[in-house]
Amino acid sequence: MSGAPAIEVTSLSKRYGATPAVDDLDWSGGRGVIGLLGPNGAGKSTLLRMLATVLAQDSGAIRVFGLDPAVADERLAIRRRLGYLPQEAGLYRNFSAYDLVDYVAVLKEITDRSARRDEVRRVLGDVGMTDDMHRRIRTLSGGMQRRVALAAALLGHPDLLVLDEPSAGLDPDQRLRMRGVLSEVGQRATVLLSTHQTDEVAAFCQRVLVLDRGRLLFDGAPRDLARRATDRVWVSDVPDAGALRSWVTGDGDIRNIGTPPPGATVVEPTLDDGYLLVATEDGVRA
Ligand code: ADP
Repeated sequence: MSGAPAIEVTSLSKRYGATPAVDDLDWSGGRGVIGLLGPNGAGKSTLLRMLATVLAQDSGAIRVFGLDPAVADERLAIRRRLGYLPQEAGLYRNFSAYDLVDYVAVLKEITDRSARRDEVRRVLGDVGMTDDMHRRIRTLSGGMQRRVALAAALLGHPDLLVLDEPSAGLDPDQRLRMRGVLSEVGQRATVLLSTHQTDEVAAFCQRVLVLDRGRLLFDGAPRDLARRATDRVWVSDVPDAGALRSWVTGDGDIRNIGTPPPGATVVEPTLDDGYLLVATEDGVRA
């Protein structure tokens, strides 16, 4: 790999009408698994689509491996090193899972037949689809279709994987398998994934980004996001009116975030608390 970071964006903006989807973003990142958290409409998909070279920005610069996706030759060079799982992958419903991934492998220029067969089987194995690989896409469950699309993104050992909610629709067992595969990929490549699950970020991301209204609210290690809520989380028997947010936990306790009142039972923060505090405080400021 060259010395350039896998991803570098400066003053990156994209708006839809009056809505800024990504707003003057500066960020760079390299090897490892990076989790992107944020509420619905935060701009996660828009950012991922721009990095995956399928959407052009309005202003600012994007460099992937030091290359500019706005320049046709450079865009092609990026795509050769990129795997992308869109939020809604349009799959040919009459293809079998195997034929679909094989087709993508051809597009990815894996021309040697026997190497391609091995590679298609490898990625279908990685997502646990070996037993079902000859079934037609239209007969597969939503979660299975998602895994086929993920398999296609893994083809050819990309240096950058951009994954829009890869765990959506997967059961806990499949999520564990996916984490294992992506952790391994993250040893040598950059994996940037969006998720709604803070436990997923805590479990296997080395770095976490929190995006809201197109702006980056946090960038750091998952444990540091949890630490943001140190001394800011307390439990009580009834919701605390002074809290920024209160909710009932599985144990039946009320958990509150904000500025605890004197004498409150302050507890150890989780990543969830850190995320909610960062997102809520930003919402209050806006
Ligand atoms: P997220 O992935 O975090 O849910 P998105 O990137 O999908 O967020 O959306 C960011 C903002 O841009 C939202 O306000 C959304 O409504 C808007 N948006 C996204 N795509 C489009 C589009 N194709 N046309 C109009 N508005 C869009």
